Amino acid sequence: MSPVLTRVDLEPVIGLEIHAQLLTRTKIFCGCAARFGVPPNHDVCPVCLGMPGALPVLNGQAVDLAIAAALALGCTVHETSIFARKNYFYPDLPKGYQISQYERPLATGGTVEIASDDGTARRIHLTRIHMEEDAGKSVHEGFADSDRRTYVDYNRAGVPLIEIVSEPEMRTPTEAAHFFEAVRRLLVWIGANDGNMEEGSLRCDANVSVRPRGQAAFGTKVEVKNVNSFRYLQKALEYEIARQSDAVAHGERIVQETRLFDSALGRTFSMRSKEEAHDYRYFPEPDLPPVVVPDERRARVAAAMPELPDARRTRFVTAYRLPDYDAGVLTESRGLADYFEQVAAAAGNPKAASNWVMGEVLRVLKAKDAGIAEVGVTAEALGGLIRLVDGGTISTTVAKAVFEQMYGTGRDARAIVEEQGLAQVSDESALAALVGDLLAQHADTVAQYRAGRKQAFGFLVGEAMKASGGKADPKRLSQLLRTTLDAPAS
Ligand code: ADP
Ligand code: ZN
Ligand code: MG
Repeated sequence: MSPVLTRVDLEPVIGLEIHAQLLTRTKIFCGCAARFGVPPNHDVCPVCLGMPGALPVLNGQAVDLAIAAALALGCTVHETSIFARKNYFYPDLPKGYQISQYERPLATGGTVEIASDDGTARRIHLTRIHMEEDAGKSVHEGFADSDRRTYVDYNRAGVPLIEIVSEPEMRTPTEAAHFFEAVRRLLVWIGANDGNMEEGSLRCDANVSVRPRGQAAFGTKVEVKNVNSFRYLQKALEYEIARQSDAVAHGERIVQETRLFDSALGRTFSMRSKEEAHDYRYFPEPDLPPVVVPDERRARVAAAMPELPDARRTRFVTAYRLPDYDAGVLTESRGLADYFEQVAAAAGNPKAASNWVMGEVLRVLKAKDAGIAEVGVTAEALGGLIRLVDGGTISTTVAKAVFEQMYGTGRDARAIVEEQGLAQVSDESALAALVGDLLAQHADTVAQYRAGRKQAFGFLVGEAMKASGGKADPKRLSQLLRTTLDAPAS
C-alpha cells in the first residue's frame, strides 16, 4: 500500500435506483395477472411474450399508482410523459427491448427525509420517477439439468414497475439503508407496493463512488445490481466502499462497471463493464401514445390518498398530545397507526393507548414475528382492558397478565377479571383486615417503624401487596397502612 495515499480521507457518494412493483391486478401492457407464486410461464400472452404484431395497451391503474407514489414523494407529475424502447438483448426480454420512460419521465424532483448517522434529519432529493415494465426471470437452479441449462420464466415480464432515482446525496451505507426503508414505508403506506422484498416486489441498484473528502467532483461510480434487503444493501455498500478505497490507496483507477452482490460471500463481483445510454438506442415507443395526466386526474389521485406518515405523526402530537417519539413509532406503518387510533378511541385515553401499543402489543408481535395485521387483540378489547386499569378495577401488573390471556383467544378483559377474581381489593374493610393481619405478623418491623426506622414502610407495603396476591389497590393500601402505623399505639 502506498503510505501517502492511504492517508487520504475518502468520502463515499451513494445514489440509489429503486424498482418497485405497482400493486395492480394485471400487467402494465396486457391483461395477464401480475402475481407471485404461480407455475412458470402461467401468466403470459402474446403481448408480454413479445409476439410480432401484438400491441401494448397501458394499464390505467398502474398510472394512478405511479402518480400516487410520485405525489407522496413530493415530485412534480408531468402532464405529458413518453414511453421509449430501451433496446438490449437478453433471454428474459422476449421483445428485445424494454418499454420504459427515458427522456420524458412521469415525474421529477421530490425529496425523502432520512436520519443521518448523527441522528439529524437530512433531505435526499429525487431525480425522477418513471414507469416501466419488468423483465422475465432466468432460472439457473432447481432442474435436473440445471448444470447445463438455464430456463426462463416470463410471469414477471410486463409486470408494472416504477423506478425511483435518487440524486447521489447519501454518504454512508446506513443513510442509503434509511433512504430505502423510508421509500418502502411510504409506498406500502399508500398501497402502491406490497413491500415484499423476498418476492422481488421491491429492489434497488446501488451506485457508489469514493472521492477525497473536500473534493467537489465525484469519483467514478460502480453500480451494484438488484439488492433485495436493507441488510444486503448495507453489506454490499460497505464491501464496495472498502474495495474502492483500497484500489485508490494502491493508486489504481476505478473502472465504471456493473457488479453483483453475492450475499453468501458478502462480496461484489464484476458482471459487465458499464453500458452507456447510447448503447440502448432509445427511441420513442411507436405503439403507445404519450401518457397524459390532466390536472383533474392528478387531483383525483391526490384526493384518494390516505393521510401521509409525516402529517399523521404531527397530528398524533397535536391532537393526542403524544410525545414525538411515540408518534414516530406509531406511524411506522399505516396499520399500526390505525390500530393505535382505534385503541385510543376505545380506551378514551390516548397516552395509555400509546403505552400499551408501543409496549405490550409491539413486544408480542415481535416475539411472534408477526405484523400488525395479525395482532391477536382487537382494538376494542384492548380499549376495554385499559378502561379497567383507568377505573381502578385492576392494577397495571394484573392488566399485563390479563393481556397475555386475551391475546389470540378473543376473550374480553372483564370476563377474565371476573372469572379469576382479579379485581383490585379497594374495599375498606377487606383492606383493613389485610393490614391488621400484616401488623400482627410483622410486629418487630412495626415496632422498628414506630421507633423511627421509617424505611421499613416500603417493606410493609410490599408484604401487604404480596399477601393480597397483587390485588390490593396500592394507593389505598399504603394510605391505610400509614394511618394505621402512625396512629398512637393502642
Ligand atoms: P447512468 O447514466 O449511469 O444511469 P445517472 O447519472 O443516471 O447514471 O445516475 C444513476 C444513479 O447513480 C443515480 O441514482 C445517481 O444518483 C447515481 N450516481 C451518479 N453519479 C454517481 C457517482 N459519481 N457516485 C455515486 N452515485 C452516482
Ligand atoms: Zn400478457
Ligand atoms: Mg440513468
